[in-house]
Amino acid sequence: MSSATENHVGPRTTGKVRPHQTQNERLVFEKSSPGKKAYKLPPLDVPAIDVAALLGETHRKVAGELPELSEIEIIRHFTRLSTWNYAIDLGMYPLGSCTMKYNPRVNEFVSRIEGLAEAHPYRPDALAQGILDVIELLQKCLIEITGMDTITLQPAAGAHGEFTGILLVRARHESNGNPRRKVIIPDSAHGTNPATAAICGYQVENLKSNADGGIDLEALARQVDEETAALMLTNPSTIGVFENQIHKIAEILHAKGALLYMDGANMNALVGKVRPGDFGVDVMHLNLHKTFSTPHGGGGPGSGPVACKAFLEPFLPTPVLMTKADGTKGWNYDRPQSVGRVRAFYGNTGMFIRALAYILANGPDGLRQTTEDAVLNANYIRHKLEDLYELPYKTPSMHEVVFSDKRQAAKGVKTGDIAKRLIDYGFHPYTVSFPLIVPGALMIEPTESESVEELDLFIAAMRAIAKEVDETPELVKTAPHSTRVSRLDEVGAARKPVLRWKPA
Ligand SMILES: *Cc1c(COP(=O)(O)O)cnc(C)c1O
Repeated sequence: MSSATENHVGPRTTGKVRPHQTQNERLVFEKSSPGKKAYKLPPLDVPAIDVAALLGETHRKVAGELPELSEIEIIRHFTRLSTWNYAIDLGMYPLGSCTMKYNPRVNEFVSRIEGLAEAHPYRPDALAQGILDVIELLQKCLIEITGMDTITLQPAAGAHGEFTGILLVRARHESNGNPRRKVIIPDSAHGTNPATAAICGYQVENLKSNADGGIDLEALARQVDEETAALMLTNPSTIGVFENQIHKIAEILHAKGALLYMDGANMNALVGKVRPGDFGVDVMHLNLHKTFSTPHGGGGPGSGPVACKAFLEPFLPTPVLMTKADGTKGWNYDRPQSVGRVRAFYGNTGMFIRALAYILANGPDGLRQTTEDAVLNANYIRHKLEDLYELPYKTPSMHEVVFSDKRQAAKGVKTGDIAKRLIDYGFHPYTVSFPLIVPGALMIEPTESESVEELDLFIAAMRAIAKEVDETPELVKTAPHSTRVSRLDEVGAARKPVLRWKPA
């Protein structure tokens, strides 16, 4: 290891590769050589058939260009790639706004129980009562946790939940004769909020946050009028601040017939403590893949249920779960005011099973404890780092803490550099440059999964990096030094991704 990386707390992924791999980039991925096989078939013990004759003109004349490798080469290739990656199973994943908590293995086990995992969506209701029970119980739990009246589990992600929720808002206003024109969104909002309002046909009106990072009630009162369909509010906000005037915000909106939408992606700070339904929220979404422990990242399936008050119930997407006259469960498609279907079948059922397993395993006390631990962990980090990193909002932090790179930027080191240096210390970076209302943001969310020992390692790494910024800023500006590749062309990677092997 170079002197640059001597004082590591200890990287957990070895970016180390064998010399021939670094010398010849081509050898890392181009491993094919003609004639190699990863399988062996037993000798043919039936008469051979003439495949060409059987397939006729669909028989391909030129062999497909597939890599040819032995079994051990394939295994080593994928195992090696896995060691160049980072995962929650290797260490803390402090990616703010994402709630990258650990997903207990038992949830995975439960979601794979054959009768649940293999329940086909076309199975007749009479044969699907077990999985329908699971769905109903999860609905009941989430309604209880949010304090709302009803729910749909259909949406496949948070942004999809927002879309569904604002469709409900629109349908409700339309049923009153006017869909209204605009949706108000604070400047601290997650980027998906304005995108949602726009795609639902609304004009987005920005609302500037006050000095505490919250809503300025007077500015809001001036802005809300009879053309306001809703306010979309993330609570706690993206700077990890709880909006403690929320009931007054609801009153201001309701007085003009506008609705309060809550982006509930940050419910990890509220579950078991307060319920949005009790503080005036009309409709909200949850991210099961954040708060309720479904593994995420990597684009896997998610789930963004939408919970709402009873007056929005007629507009819920079809189908909705119902109890039939004979007491069995089934799907109700007879919903004349429904916004229609937003997802195939009834959403990502595997996520429902994981979420229910998580909720039942924790119970009410466990969920409350989880929330308290998540908030405690964020505040522990805040307390241990605020002497070295600028804290732009002094308002109490909930489940995440947002610093800025103001002091380090004076030395020419930006939040992105510090994040990349964290990789050398064995941590996944925090969220960089978001939320936008904090220039040079370092957004850190430890979640409740982390022990004090792991938090101390992270804090030690962040403190060591702050020291490096003072003494050897170049070291930070050129990080990471321990990974297989260092700084990447991030724009190129996003615009022209190379996601699969193609023949050379
Ligand atoms: C993650 C997040 C979303 C979007 O959720 P996806 O499942 O990624 O679509 C929306 N709002 C906030 C505040 C979030 O943190």
